[in-house]
Amino acid sequence: MRTAEIKRRFLAHFEANGHAVVPSAPLPAIDDPNLLFVNAGMVQFVPYFLGQRTPPWKRATSVQKCIRTPDIDEVGKTSRHGTFFQMNGNFSFGDYFKEGAITLAWDLVTKSVDEGGFGLDPERIWATVYLDDDEAFDIWHHKIGLPKERIVRRGKADNYWSMGIPGPCGPCSEIYLDRGPEYGREGGPEVDEDRYMEFWNLVFMQNERGPGTDKENYPILGELPAKNIDTGMGLERMASILQGVDNIYEIDEIKPILNKAAELTGKQYGARSGHLASESHPDDVRLRVIADHVRTSLMLIADGVTPSNEGRGYVLRRIMRRAIRAMRLLGWQGRALPELLPVARDCMAPSYPEVVSDFERIASYAYAEEEAFLSTLRAGTTILDTAVAETKRAGGTRLTGEQAFQLHDTYGFPIDLTLEIAGEQGLSVDEEGFRRLMGEQRSRAKADAQARKTGHVDLSAYRAVLESGGPVEFTGYEETRRESRLRALLSGSGTGLSGAGVGDTVELVLDATPFYAEGGGQQPDQGIITVGGGSVEVFDVQQPIPGLIVHRGRVVEGEIRRGETGYAEIDVLRRKAISRAHTATHLVHTAMRNFLGESATQAGSLNAPGRLRFDFNTPGAVSPSVLHDIEQQVNEVLMSDLDVHAFITSLEEARKLGAMALFGEKYGDEVRVVEVGDYARELCGGTHAARSGQLGLVKIVQESSIGSGVRRVEALVGMDAFGYLAREHVLVSRLAELYRVPGDQVADRVEQTVAQLREAEKELEKLRAQLVLANVGALVAGARDVGGVSFVGVEAPEGTGGNEVRTLAQEIRGRMPADRPGVAAVTARSGGKASLIVATNPAARDRGLSAADLVKGALSGRGGGNAELAQGGGAPAGDAPSLLAAVEKAIANS
Ligand code: ATP
Ligand code: MG
Repeated sequence: MRTAEIKRRFLAHFEANGHAVVPSAPLPAIDDPNLLFVNAGMVQFVPYFLGQRTPPWKRATSVQKCIRTPDIDEVGKTSRHGTFFQMNGNFSFGDYFKEGAITLAWDLVTKSVDEGGFGLDPERIWATVYLDDDEAFDIWHHKIGLPKERIVRRGKADNYWSMGIPGPCGPCSEIYLDRGPEYGREGGPEVDEDRYMEFWNLVFMQNERGPGTDKENYPILGELPAKNIDTGMGLERMASILQGVDNIYEIDEIKPILNKAAELTGKQYGARSGHLASESHPDDVRLRVIADHVRTSLMLIADGVTPSNEGRGYVLRRIMRRAIRAMRLLGWQGRALPELLPVARDCMAPSYPEVVSDFERIASYAYAEEEAFLSTLRAGTTILDTAVAETKRAGGTRLTGEQAFQLHDTYGFPIDLTLEIAGEQGLSVDEEGFRRLMGEQRSRAKADAQARKTGHVDLSAYRAVLESGGPVEFTGYEETRRESRLRALLSGSGTGLSGAGVGDTVELVLDATPFYAEGGGQQPDQGIITVGGGSVEVFDVQQPIPGLIVHRGRVVEGEIRRGETGYAEIDVLRRKAISRAHTATHLVHTAMRNFLGESATQAGSLNAPGRLRFDFNTPGAVSPSVLHDIEQQVNEVLMSDLDVHAFITSLEEARKLGAMALFGEKYGDEVRVVEVGDYARELCGGTHAARSGQLGLVKIVQESSIGSGVRRVEALVGMDAFGYLAREHVLVSRLAELYRVPGDQVADRVEQTVAQLREAEKELEKLRAQLVLANVGALVAGARDVGGVSFVGVEAPEGTGGNEVRTLAQEIRGRMPADRPGVAAVTARSGGKASLIVATNPAARDRGLSAADLVKGALSGRGGGNAELAQGGGAPAGDAPSLLAAVEKAIANS
């Protein structure tokens, strides 16, 4: 049975039993600051389980995309762990409990294939329950009829679940399949978890736990008022069972990738391994790692993650690099991802059509990352070769832990590669030292993360306000001013207040408000709230938790009291300027896609009064001509004066209409779509201009890089764009006036002027040299006799260039009588330093005088040149005269 079919049957079974089918949340866990990726089906339902929100249904089912990075080291070595996998789940919010959950699961797995089930043999099924969970034990035994020997009681580590924080917790019951003696030892899940493979976990949330960091020892506070069910069935594990293969890497969604990797590297997968993953040949393990990691990379990039050096991006980078490395270790020297990624795409396409429609973008990130990694490998190899050579020269046989760590830390060079290359050179590596340094780094990182966690703001005050009065209604799409009651008043540090006076900075929550809270890149509204006898200047509006709009402001007049009614009025001009920028962003986004292709997706934006910033994914810089085209198209849309129109519809309908949505953004079932005529259509909760004509003008002023694969354009809108162009115009007019040419000739004139200036400078230099040389005759006439050698020592005038100084020395030498030994020495000062040039004639050299020796003698070794001409510098400027004296003395002593 194909994986897509198992998924379909699962959802159909629970839908037929009254469950709402809920789509998977995207892989990045955007609502939870402490979680990088969604790692279980229940993650998107957490607010329901914690009682923070009321679930819209009593029963739900989903197939959730999951990432579990802690399982990365298990991949390929067990039969059942992937970094990416899909968790099929059913959930009850205060509805059915243990009996319902166990029966529903049992029915589906044992129902025959013809009847829509999975047709597993009941005789081979085992279950575990928590030590004292007699209730679950009895259901399994009496209701289902599972013999006592196949119901195992296990302790807290295996069969008790909590989220690691205060909140719901409870016992669980796992369902296993005995795959038979060829997969391991007899004796149940406690003896062998590969033979007895867990495929489904049923969690019974029935208690509330208290605080505590220990995994097993935390206080159980009591029973929950409403009991919940959360289950997870590993889709890949069920597929491996139903497809009769040994492990999850051999199912239809993964095996073709593995096959392709084997074909490229010339390996025969499985030839040297038995059924047991734990005893497989290392090459087979590597092939499984490659297949798993390539699939994971595909799914991560599809959900908007891009490779980087931190957070989610780093996890992706690491996974991709491991796959590429493993291919090289198996002997493949070419590019790996262009071969493997398309295979992964075809495997996942039946369940995830977006990997096909979005493949161009996905592939461009993946392939660029492989290029980058290969050059890292090259750079690292050079550094490593140097380290190896140095170690050998010093007679050592071992690279230090620091060297290996530095290669890893600075160049991202994997340790196994360091070991391998060092080994080839006959050297060992201080692995223990390396691991120690890695450990130290890891604990530093952990301490950091801990600090960040505790620094996390406490949202409980906001939650209490939300719970007591429900969500705040936002009325700002239709109005700019409204009457409303001051529902809550908080101090900056989150304590509830009953009143506040002039000068206080406070947070206000109203029943309903026209103020837009910062979100979706749009800047918050500002304005005035008057309550009773007081008024508050609002400078910021935020939504610290979904549904709660909080105004931050300063009391500028009188006093305000909680519970009183007042007026909230936004700064309309500011709002309009922001709205125009927001509409402009949609137009730029659409135009960008029209010219750069679908892959130019939004990575972030800012809509501020009169200006916008738009970040988007694209591999390289956008050329000025394309930017010009984009700008032109946007301005044409403005002139067409299209109607801007917003409406609410279902997510599915919006997708059908082709509305652009953001990656990694979570949308509810109902979404708001903003259309600009038929030109742009995008999911958006922001405020907009009423017609595109109101934008007036859009001017792109800058395009730049803000990271690998991410570019930024900045643009001005409306009067700000006009002001910008007007200022540029004034500038050009002024230049035109100064140059006395029409505006369109200014650039040519500037070019001409610059060329003329350069000519003039050259001329000046020539004249200066002539001036210096005019004196040569007089200088030679004044030559001194030093022990039979004519010597001219002179300091060049301040500001004489290096070339002229040299020419001066040569000219002096040239005019000295050739039949007598002659030496010319010239010093010059520049930039606080003195330099020296010495020239000798042939007769002087016959006497054994060398220019190079004389310079070096005067400058204590510094300087270069030959016997005829030499120069040196770097002495303090004040030493210039003594340099000449030193040369003279050396001649006298020769
Ligand atoms: P195991 O002990 O085998 O690692 P687990 O206890 O971590 O499993 P749960 O957290 O209970 O698993 O997750 C529910 C189900 O999700 C499991 O029963 C299993 O079928 C599946 N599952 C968990 N981790 C993985 C993984 N890394 N790859 C594939 N499926 C997984
Ligand atoms: Mg696990």
